[in-house]
Amino acid sequence: RLFYDTDCSLEPLAGKTITFIGYGNQGRAQALNLRDTFSSAQNVTQPKIVITNQEDSYAKTAEQDGFGYTTNWAAAAAEADVLFLLVPDQHQPDLFNSHIAPNLKETACIVVASGYNVFYKYLNFTSSNDIVMVAPRMVGASVRSLYESKQGYPCFVSVEQDGTGQAWPLALALCMAVGATKGGAIESSCREEALTDLFAEQAIWPTVIAVFREGYKLLKELGCSDEALVHEMWLSKEPAEIFESAADQGFIKQLVGHSSVSQYGQLKGSQEMDVSWLKKHFEHVAKERVLGGAFAEEFTAAEQKPGGIDGALKKLYQEAEKSKLAVGEKRVRERLGLKT
Ligand code: NDP
Repeated sequence: RLFYDTDCSLEPLAGKTITFIGYGNQGRAQALNLRDTFSSAQNVTQPKIVITNQEDSYAKTAEQDGFGYTTNWAAAAAEADVLFLLVPDQHQPDLFNSHIAPNLKETACIVVASGYNVFYKYLNFTSSNDIVMVAPRMVGASVRSLYESKQGYPCFVSVEQDGTGQAWPLALALCMAVGATKGGAIESSCREEALTDLFAEQAIWPTVIAVFREGYKLLKELGCSDEALVHEMWLSKEPAEIFESAADQGFIKQLVGHSSVSQYGQLKGSQEMDVSWLKKHFEHVAKERVLGGAFAEEFTAAEQKPGGIDGALKKLYQEAEKSKLAVGEKRVRERLGLKT
């Protein structure tokens, strides 16, 4: 199902206290959209918007945007009718379970922008709370700019727990308020959001990275220069244009824009490729790593080790930078005076 503005009403939010926990990437965009929607709405009692953020540059931005902010999570949680949980996923369980959940009203609605912590049951909420997902498929800057240009943006919506019996009208009101029903909010679930998102991150894009890395290595061994490879593979921005055309014209239809040699090579090559290893790998990622929870366990354990996720990422980057592709690209970019 898709939900449009005409399926929704702002009434369930009238006069409510709406609290944003986190004024970062998503928090800022969604809070500004919500404020603007209500300031242009007729005959609806305005909600009270409360911003909470730790002392950092985002907190200063909240002040500049005319909201003000508090760092008192517990007090903000206590007065919330609706609470957007918009800090990074890895920090949500600790913050929510220690400072927010114990202070929440029994009927408060908790809104997440990602299915991760709800799907893996990392958040301790009570059965009387409404749990709603409003998950834009975009970075916050686009959530804001598409709203300002009166366009919609893709967004998943779901009710994970209907504690009050009124969670759906509330979820749709929230989607409308943040501008997600302009282009049609997509009915989904935390399971589907977590599965699609984590599968893309852990199966599709790693495969793309490995394909580029191994392809680069082979063609380098066959005598191609770094300059030729870097330009052919991504610096020309051809792959970016292909994905743009796939969104505009269709994933397969965009192929007609290429030469006949290219079209034949791409279609025949993808048909003839032995993908049995890929199917096996993808199944492992989807069923064991994502749905089975192995990745979430590993990620939580990495966060708890000395250095945390930042330390683990530093190590992974150091490894990636050693590949022929990364070394070759660095040299080419330095020669061309591009950012390295
Ligand atoms: P941000 O990384 O922008 O962080 C938001 C705020 O949380 C920042 O002020 C950050 O501070 C603060 N923060 C970090 N750690 C803590 C902590 N331990 N306690 C309190 N505050 C903390 O978050 P996002 O907007 O990227 O993510 C919010 C949610 O939105 C997540 O569930 C994410 O999955 C989802 N989402 C994100 C998208 C994106 O494009 N980023 C797209 C769609 C959904 P500081 O930066 O100073 O550490």
